[in-house]
Amino acid sequence: MTKGKQEVDHLEARWPLITAMKGGQEVTWLNEQKSMSTEDQLPIQLEEIEDAEARLRRFAPFLGAVFPETRDSAGVIESPLLEIGRMKAFLEAYHQEKIEGQLYMKADHLLPVAGSVKARGGMYEVLKHAEQLAIENGLLSTEEDYSKLASKEMRKFFSRYSLAVGSTGNLGLSIGMTGAALGFQTTVHMSIDAKEWKKRRLRERGVQVIEYADDYSRAVEEGRTLSAQTKNSFFIDDEHSRELFLGYSTAALRLKEQFQERGLLVDKDHPLIVYLPCGVGGAPGGIFAGLKRVFGEHVYSFFAEPVQAPCMLLGLMTGLHDRIAVQDAGIHLATEADGLAVGRASSFVGRAVANDLDGVFTISDDQLFTYLGQMAKLEGEYLEPSALAGVEGPFRAKRSGWLERHLTDEQRANAVNLVWSTGGSLVPQEEMAAMIRKGEQLFSQ
Ligand SMILES: *Cc1c(COP(=O)(O)O)cnc(C)c1O
Repeated sequence: MTKGKQEVDHLEARWPLITAMKGGQEVTWLNEQKSMSTEDQLPIQLEEIEDAEARLRRFAPFLGAVFPETRDSAGVIESPLLEIGRMKAFLEAYHQEKIEGQLYMKADHLLPVAGSVKARGGMYEVLKHAEQLAIENGLLSTEEDYSKLASKEMRKFFSRYSLAVGSTGNLGLSIGMTGAALGFQTTVHMSIDAKEWKKRRLRERGVQVIEYADDYSRAVEEGRTLSAQTKNSFFIDDEHSRELFLGYSTAALRLKEQFQERGLLVDKDHPLIVYLPCGVGGAPGGIFAGLKRVFGEHVYSFFAEPVQAPCMLLGLMTGLHDRIAVQDAGIHLATEADGLAVGRASSFVGRAVANDLDGVFTISDDQLFTYLGQMAKLEGEYLEPSALAGVEGPFRAKRSGWLERHLTDEQRANAVNLVWSTGGSLVPQEEMAAMIRKGEQLFSQ
């Protein structure tokens, strides 16, 4: 529901940045609250991340058995860390400015099974739920080989239970694939943004897909209500889930290994700056919290949102978190970046990162497509629009004055800039080709 003009005027008077946001401009917001507090409120501890990682390891034999694409990695769902030198050269020419330090991309668009960052959180929560059910019913112990979960008997057991989730597409895909592989009755409530091919893929696996002509918050609400009325049904709640957050955070332990393999350091003299696409906040929040716990205090981060879906920026800036939606600020929720098409942030992520996050910036859809086209052409990496939201981060950090204010010349020269690519490898070829064409047209205009 859109608020009255009076209320929007009131918000604008208090937070003038809203005027530019409402006008469709790209903005960069720096988090002043960070400098006012040294206390971190990150809701997870290192031991919990390690516990989650151990759970994923237990499930690896099962995942390897049911998802052939994970066999090469023995059922471990992980993505590569890529150096994107050609893209770096393009970005520097395009923005007529050098990136200080190195530029890497964490390629979560290549995560198997789900083809997006949702393979981390979504799969984790489903697996954890399945483990708990099986253990409670005396069918599994943590010492056993979990490939037994792929048996007929276990599928029959899980088929007595339901899973449900509300999604703009990718979370539904990850939960649907994992739920179906275990044998759960799985229902995905899809918002209007969800792409046809994601629904098709799920239906082919026997997942029930319910479509809404409404935004993401509504799909979640309906899904939550329906699930509560269904016996033995478990709802995966993207707006509130701590398990999703924890699943995302395990990325940090994996990244630490990849940094070690490459001889990359993170310490006072070698800061790490991470740029994360943000929808409801679970994925970027969980990853950032994980990085802080695993690498320590010399990790900095910016979240990136579409110009027309800046729910996290609004929630953090106003301190209203999930009590404000983009529509309340006179912003019409609309973006081709379906993974980020969220009008209201998670109930806890904003509060959890408020003392640690460095800032949030917004980016236009045209810019996302321009980068999408160049990333495909120069690096041969095929990303969906959402996944490019962070790519401009190093320039935003610099132009906003943040970089010079927080890091010395030497620290900047030694910094690793890490853009997190969050999805795209499962996009059907024709659709990807059309998006690349659009991006190349925008660039040559
Ligand atoms: C879901 C998603 C994000 C953001 O995750 P949130 O938890 O919604 O903030 C980013 N990119 C892609 C491709 C996604 O699907």
